[in-house]
Amino acid sequence: MSTVWQIYNHNRKQLKNDLDLLLEAAHAVEWLGNRKAPLLLKPNLVVSKSASEGATTHPEIAEAVVEYFLDCGFSDIAVAEGSWVGDSTARAFEVCGYTDIRKRYGIRLIDLQKDFFTEKAINGDNYKICSSIYDLAENGGSLINLPVLKGHGQTHISCALKNLKGCIPDSEKRRYHTLGVHGPVALLNTMIKPAFALVDGLNGDPYWEEGGSPEKRDILLLGRDPVAIDSYACSLLDVDEDSVDYIGMAEKLGVGTAGTSASDIIHLGPRPGNVKGQKRPGSNSGSGKIAGELKNLIDQLTEQRSACSSCFGNLAGALRDIYAEDPALLGPFEKGSICIGQEFRDNPPESGKTGIGICTAGGKGKFLRGCPPSKRAVYDFLKNDISGGF
Ligand code: SF4
Repeated sequence: MSTVWQIYNHNRKQLKNDLDLLLEAAHAVEWLGNRKAPLLLKPNLVVSKSASEGATTHPEIAEAVVEYFLDCGFSDIAVAEGSWVGDSTARAFEVCGYTDIRKRYGIRLIDLQKDFFTEKAINGDNYKICSSIYDLAENGGSLINLPVLKGHGQTHISCALKNLKGCIPDSEKRRYHTLGVHGPVALLNTMIKPAFALVDGLNGDPYWEEGGSPEKRDILLLGRDPVAIDSYACSLLDVDEDSVDYIGMAEKLGVGTAGTSASDIIHLGPRPGNVKGQKRPGSNSGSGKIAGELKNLIDQLTEQRSACSSCFGNLAGALRDIYAEDPALLGPFEKGSICIGQEFRDNPPESGKTGIGICTAGGKGKFLRGCPPSKRAVYDFLKNDISGGF
């Protein structure tokens, strides 16, 4: 059995108290190494967007964790992250509020997009890991995973297991998608072992990794077993656990135990419904229903084959913006007519199909350059494509 501690944060002014309660109840400090060794926090800053949009870890959570472990006597604390391909971690640190934390507490910010990497050979293949992360365990340091509980356009969910993808170089992120993402993500969790994960489930976007449709859940989770946490995350997001291949793969590799049940959860504090005026978190609102239908529509219009997360995210974001302007604008696109992904390099899109990204350059139809093309570029391209304005 793998325990997951859970608390509802009904009042953001109580966030630090609720986090302290969670860390105390789990005796989390006992899972960490030497207090003189480095302590690294790994939030999810996949894009340069405020946490209110549902993609990134609230800085207030990282700040509370920093304060808690400074009080425990840890003196060398840093935040480490590598945003997705095409965005800048330095900008994400600024936009997401982490530069302010550095100034207030004198901690270090480590931009993993600029880090060296170390190679690890597994089953005849070499996997690259950012050196700051790889060296941590060698130096007796500890890693705390601070993922966001959210959906993902390709893997259905993103939580504890997938958050470690920010610990590899950009070139490796691209390569993971050529390997099917799920297998390498599972394997990555055998190479990097955070002491525990503290999950930001306050308002993650249940559909998109890059956010935009946040849904209030007010949940914080803590646990040592990332497989158990992700298994539980599936139930919170109403996703079939079996549809997220990397969870089962990670379990087979011995990372943890899936099939998390109610008996594995330790609830702290009052639950929703016990608090006056509190709506049930994560309830399927009208806007949530529309976002779900739009996700299905985007899945139907696109044919993705090993697309990088940022590339697909920018495409999905552009399609959402066009849909918001006028759903009829997407009418001219047939099922599977928008192609994206690295497999199109060897098997170019057929004539009549539209390509997104340099990988689709060999096709006979129209395509958009870029690697990845920005959301704005995709938006302009598709709107021109629709109106025939080339
Ligand atoms: S064009 Fe898109 S899918 Fe192809 S390598 Fe670049 S980012 Fe990845």
